[in-house]
Amino acid sequence: MLTGGYVHDRLVYIDGALASSRDRAGIEVLNPATEGVVGIAAAGSAGDVDRAVRAASAAFPAWSALPVSERANYLRALGDGLEKRRADIAALITAEVGTPLAVSERIQAALPVADFHNAADVALEVEWETEVGNSLVLAEPLGVVGAITPWNYPLHQIAAKVSAALAAGCTVVVKPSELAPLNALHLAEIAEDIGLPPGVLNIVPGDMLTGESLVEHELVDAVSFTGSPATGRRISRLAARAPKRTLLELGGKSACILLTDSTVDTERKALTDTVQSCLRNSGQTCIALSRLVVPRERIDAVLETVTALMDEYPVGDPLDPGTKLGPVISQQQYASVLGHIESAVNDGARLVYGGAERFPHLTRGYYVYPTVLLAPDSSISIAREEVFGPVLTVLAHDGDDDAVRIANDSDYGLSGAVWGEDRDYAVAVARRIRSGQIDICGGRFNPRAPFGGMKRSGYGRELGRYGIDEYLQTKSLQR
Ligand code: NAD
Repeated sequence: MLTGGYVHDRLVYIDGALASSRDRAGIEVLNPATEGVVGIAAAGSAGDVDRAVRAASAAFPAWSALPVSERANYLRALGDGLEKRRADIAALITAEVGTPLAVSERIQAALPVADFHNAADVALEVEWETEVGNSLVLAEPLGVVGAITPWNYPLHQIAAKVSAALAAGCTVVVKPSELAPLNALHLAEIAEDIGLPPGVLNIVPGDMLTGESLVEHELVDAVSFTGSPATGRRISRLAARAPKRTLLELGGKSACILLTDSTVDTERKALTDTVQSCLRNSGQTCIALSRLVVPRERIDAVLETVTALMDEYPVGDPLDPGTKLGPVISQQQYASVLGHIESAVNDGARLVYGGAERFPHLTRGYYVYPTVLLAPDSSISIAREEVFGPVLTVLAHDGDDDAVRIANDSDYGLSGAVWGEDRDYAVAVARRIRSGQIDICGGRFNPRAPFGGMKRSGYGRELGRYGIDEYLQTKSLQR
């Protein structure tokens, strides 16, 4: 049904069946590179959400009672199904999000496969029962999970939540982002194909209203949310009325620190890595390294290198295999990113590269020029607020203690990086940064390591063993 990647039927997946939602007008999904329509998604109604949650609730007793090895087999089959469709999924996400196709293939379509396969493996490592004195402590699933996800890595964010929750024995209703909801229907089709029991996984695309109906539904036991801090606050307020458990993965303003002992060679590697991280998916990555904190005496050299790296970055049609930087997701996001750049300059930052320039060869699409700003200090908003665009803010430090101070001078604490000559010293510096993940001297993303934020970046962890734990609660039997 999704062959070619175009969907025009307002589909929802409820109780094991794909069907058209007819209660509300559909949502046009736009291609940010062409501004054309990719497909029409459902705007799930309160009625759709109610049917989905009831299906999940009805499926919960049998699913949670299945031996974990059987749940793991379903997860593996979901991962295998995604693997077979990788090319179609990459193409559809490129159309919905604007991610360059090569990056979609390597990240957008590949990570969801790894999420399901990893969850299948680590589910078998969970300690479902432990003895504590005269107590038998059982790990039990939370129940029905409402999963609300954003558009930037849309299928990975769904897969991270669904794989962990299903592994734990929960059943799930997913509400994908209205900006990139169509790729989730691949997962629905695969669930149908592999015979996942009806109701275990339900997908109701929609908007804020759909999301609120899900959070407030009395049969939803827990809400797992990834998105903006403002929405996270709203969701946790709504959930607190019940109250019900929430997991919040919010934004970031992650800093890369270049330590004072860095050689020119290390500096070059650090800057290359930071530019790639900052521009990946047009800067619409929650763990993007969007602050670069470097020794004051190296500022001029750093700005020269970073500018040269950005100048070489191939920008253009996401379908062109050479493209590394595509458009941002929407006209609204385009305006928001340019607004951040304008305020930065008004606040005293120096525009070193990019800004409101346009690419003469790109007449359609929401393309933002990669941008470098030098901030006088971390008090101005460009050094504090998440831009979610290809914008790097450079800050000078006066020694490694000062670098740590600057990195921590943020409401966020999602990710970060530390580069220097002595790895042990870099690790010691990383220990002082309040952030959920930190890469040392180019350490690579690990899809089994706990992922999540400190401070205003949220709470709870996803991926690997830690991800499954979030969907479990304990019960103790005294004997
Ligand atoms: P968003 O908060 O606008 O939307 C996220 C989801 O919440 C969407 O599905 C949306 O429909 C839904 N939603 C919106 N209002 C709602 C409400 N009142 N009740 C229930 N659901 C509601 O965020 P976005 O623009 O899609 O995503 C960008 C943000 O997500 C950025 O801030 C980014 O940093 C963050 N993000 C965080 C992580 C992470 O793991 N920490 C990962 C990716 C993105």
